[in-house]
Amino acid sequence: MDHAGHNRILPDSSLWEALVAMSSDGVVITDANDRITLINPTATRLLDIQGDSPVGRHITDILPLTSHDDDDDDTQIIIGDDVYTLCRTTRGDQDTMLLIQPTQHTNDVVRQLHREQQLRQLTMDVSSALDIDTILERVAQMSMELIDADSGTLSLYNSDHDYLLTTRIINLPPSSIPSPLYRGSGVIWDLIDTGRSAIINNYQHEPKALPSLIALGVRVVIAVPVRISNQILGAISLYRVTPGRMFSRHDRELLEMIGLQTGIALQNARLYEEAIHESRRRHKLYAASVEIGAALDMEDLYQAIHRAACHMLVCDSFAIALYDKQSQEVAYVYTVDHQGRWPARRVPLGHGLLGHVIHTDTSLRLSNSDTEIERIFGVGTHSDIAMSRSILATVMHTGDQIVGAITVQSQAPFAYTSKDLDALEMLASTAAIATQNAHLFARIQKMATIDPLTQIPNRRHFFEIASHEIERANRYKRPMSLVIFDIDRFKAVNDTYGHIAGDHVLKTVAARCRYELRDTDTVARYGGEEFVMLMPETSYAQALLVVERLRVCISEAPVESDVGPIPISVSLGFDSCDEMFAGSLEKLLDRADQALYVAKRGGRNRVIGFRSLVFGHDGIGQPHAS
Ligand code: GH3
Ligand code: MG
Ligand code: MG
Repeated sequence: MDHAGHNRILPDSSLWEALVAMSSDGVVITDANDRITLINPTATRLLDIQGDSPVGRHITDILPLTSHDDDDDDTQIIIGDDVYTLCRTTRGDQDTMLLIQPTQHTNDVVRQLHREQQLRQLTMDVSSALDIDTILERVAQMSMELIDADSGTLSLYNSDHDYLLTTRIINLPPSSIPSPLYRGSGVIWDLIDTGRSAIINNYQHEPKALPSLIALGVRVVIAVPVRISNQILGAISLYRVTPGRMFSRHDRELLEMIGLQTGIALQNARLYEEAIHESRRRHKLYAASVEIGAALDMEDLYQAIHRAACHMLVCDSFAIALYDKQSQEVAYVYTVDHQGRWPARRVPLGHGLLGHVIHTDTSLRLSNSDTEIERIFGVGTHSDIAMSRSILATVMHTGDQIVGAITVQSQAPFAYTSKDLDALEMLASTAAIATQNAHLFARIQKMATIDPLTQIPNRRHFFEIASHEIERANRYKRPMSLVIFDIDRFKAVNDTYGHIAGDHVLKTVAARCRYELRDTDTVARYGGEEFVMLMPETSYAQALLVVERLRVCISEAPVESDVGPIPISVSLGFDSCDEMFAGSLEKLLDRADQALYVAKRGGRNRVIGFRSLVFGHDGIGQPHAS
């Protein structure tokens, strides 16, 4: 032992342990790692430690300490219903001695400590909750208990619509607070506008007081904002009816803390909900893009895009417009609203909503469109969007090429967020690629079926169409006529006017023919300057009229061309059956060809028709010449 005067004299360890054991204060000693090395009987009793000795355990296992208690200051803690002072002494970086002494306390201190503990608990509870309902429920209940109010409400502020929605009402009849609560009624609006809390100690005389609350005897009100930084998300309002019990500054500070905690928790929960919503939407978009990608028919494609939009977004009205670069026009190919499907129409580039969107190559998000539309487009020019209050519109791009544009609309104002616009933009890019594919497919299909010079079906496609029609006529014993016609002395046309003029004649003949025919008739280029026509539901008598009219139409007026008018004529042969069964395309073609031969032999520019009374039996009718 060092006897030098400046050194402290430490009791030897056995004496020390005896002192500790006898102490009327609780004593706990911990090592540098906060593990218990010694605990005296008083501490064991105070901390109500049953069973095994806690030596070796972590100090926080037996004492409600937090990192805030980490310094050497005295701390007040609650054990059971009593308050104790916790005095800590650390010896170097060695062990720590904790003295637990009963505190002479007032009810206020106890209540204060209870409150702090509860607030801590509430903070932990709400910050770990991701469900908005749970948060609101916990906050409402806890605020009531902590502030010791008689009743209370929790309202959320909707800044888009500028109203308060009362989400929790405690100890009050639900009808006592109007919900939604619009601007102007109640004292809460000052708080929403300024973000400042309020204590109203004579609510009965407050000019803006809600009569229903006065009627319920509310005398004192405290209201604090639920906020995240400067954004007001709502308000907590607490009420007392007992006379003489005012809310204190301390109550306000505590409730403001709760308001802040609630704001953070709500924000987290909303972000979480949004994330979930987004991931669901992405999933839907993926499923939709598979369906959209598979549609090769334009109409199927438009419907698939529409379905996808309805899955992802509020969609009271919907339109797709395609951009025709050549004509500088925008074709509304698919427009649906509450009245149903609208006929397709074309507008000049820059006109109409989608014409504007394509022209400016931008997306639009309008929330309350009456005023915004006028600002963007001028008054009364855009009937296509007059019905909708909220509008999203975006361009369909593939690379830097504009395919068209797409819009979804809602009759409710403020229906769309910026996230919704993102979703529509994603849908639009999928739709753009699919539209281009479908166009390509249609072009290839057209090339395989349409004669490029005359733009009418080619021979192969005619055979496809005709075989279906003939099968149907046979099954139902319907009339059927088939015509073959040939331009007279066409070689001479080519020789006289040139091949290009000859081509022009072929095109004109096809056009005149289409003009004369019904939609159910099919005309095709059979080869060279020969054409074939199938006329379902057309008897011999009817065919005779149609075919003669066609001859007149083609032959009467010369074809106007760059090299002057070209007089032409055609010879036509047809075969008709008024009630067909067991008929075949080959037989019809063969007999129409025979009739055409007769017409040519007879001097050209004429019609010869055969009437087959019953197909299957060879009832050749009388040739008719005109
Ligand atoms: P007919 O009254 O007996 O039918 O006499 P025609 O001169 O019309 O008959 P022919 O079969 O001798 O001649 C048909 C001509 O049609 C020969 C061919 O050069 C021409 N032709 C066939 N296809 C085309 C085409 O696509 N364009 C042009 N310009 N001429 C074609
Ligand atoms: Mg000819
Ligand atoms: Mg010929």
